[in-house]
Amino acid sequence: MRGMPVDIEAVRRDFPILARQVHGKRLVYLDNAATTQKPAAVIEALDRYYRNYNANVHRSVHKLAEEATLAYESARQEVARFLNAARPEEVVFTSGTTEALNLVAYAWGRANVRAGDAIVYTDIEHHSNLVPWQLLAEAVGAEIRVVEVDPEAGLDLDRLEAVLDERVRLVTLPHISNVLGLELPVAEVARRAHQVGAVVVVDAAQSAPQQPIDVQALGCDFLALSGHKLYGPTGIGVLWGRYELLAAMPPFLGGGEMIRRVGLTRSTFADPPARFEAGTPKIAGAIGLGAAVEYLEGLGMDRVAAHDRALAAQAHEALLEVPGVTVYGPPPDRRAGLVAFSLDDIHAHDLASLVDTEGVAIRAGHHCCMPLHDRLGVPATARASFAVYNGPDDIEALVRAVHAARKVFNR
Ligand code: PMP
Repeated sequence: MRGMPVDIEAVRRDFPILARQVHGKRLVYLDNAATTQKPAAVIEALDRYYRNYNANVHRSVHKLAEEATLAYESARQEVARFLNAARPEEVVFTSGTTEALNLVAYAWGRANVRAGDAIVYTDIEHHSNLVPWQLLAEAVGAEIRVVEVDPEAGLDLDRLEAVLDERVRLVTLPHISNVLGLELPVAEVARRAHQVGAVVVVDAAQSAPQQPIDVQALGCDFLALSGHKLYGPTGIGVLWGRYELLAAMPPFLGGGEMIRRVGLTRSTFADPPARFEAGTPKIAGAIGLGAAVEYLEGLGMDRVAAHDRALAAQAHEALLEVPGVTVYGPPPDRRAGLVAFSLDDIHAHDLASLVDTEGVAIRAGHHCCMPLHDRLGVPATARASFAVYNGPDDIEALVRAVHAARKVFNR
């Protein structure tokens, strides 16, 4: 497949799962926004850890513990470099985006947001970037202000300005919508939010696997991502936070490792990131994520971005050729690496099940974005999302499968 930014044939050889068949057909995996497949480099890093140096970190002085601690802390450094963090201590390992966002809502939120303050988010958030703020607002008596995002045109900064004033303590937004494939102007939002003294939280669950992330250039204060969407293992994620903010925050979970000194009735706490990593951390997960990040850096994130976007644009155009298909989100030339669509009045689950019989894996549902689907006026959409191992042949397979589904429904 010449002409693509990534050597797809070579990349496919790096992903063992792509050798399997589904319903007797080649696996065409287009559910990457839900979770990506793992390269051999990640699987082998996990295998090496469990076979050769499995031990708890930061506690024991024996050789295995020393090796495990070194690998765990090296993974933190890799992730810090990947995000262009000012220092590795700004990288807190969590179980995923959801936990990272909850950490901010509980630890930072309960210390900094009071009755009468306001929290701003968009109407295209994933539930994991809605519910924690709703819980916070309810607990402290804060007001929620919602900025409407046009599914095609994107975020109108005047709409943001209209809700910003000195009562706003926090503005949060997705970097890339997991339904619309729309990128939001994070740097510009951060600049304006900072003018009123608000803190800016970015949900980078979809952007981190798809394009280079530079937290300093984005100018945000916190950023959350999931390892399993970034070609890494499940159960690992990252909260990046500006060090001064992390250092001023109370803990989220209490337990071992996050303390400085424990007394029977009072304790003091370690500096970040340890303060936010209570208990035995996700050692294997972090090591696997480090390997994933290294793998992606080997490919080059600029090339990954160009690749995913080229495929999404192709898929958008090809799907529009199918009678009865509606595609949601921005036009092909402004689309990030995923396409949500519907086919006539056929339920997205039925469509996805039929497509699956052709070996094509897509997702159907509200994608944890109920308010956005209410806005779009559909209960569910089908979604094809792209990764480094996908190619134009996968889009052809998808379109063939959608045509076949039409026939089944007599359309
Ligand atoms: N935000 C967005 C935009 C997402 O797509 C997802 C995962 N679908 C999440 C947050 C939550 O990620 P996780 O379930 O890995 O915590």
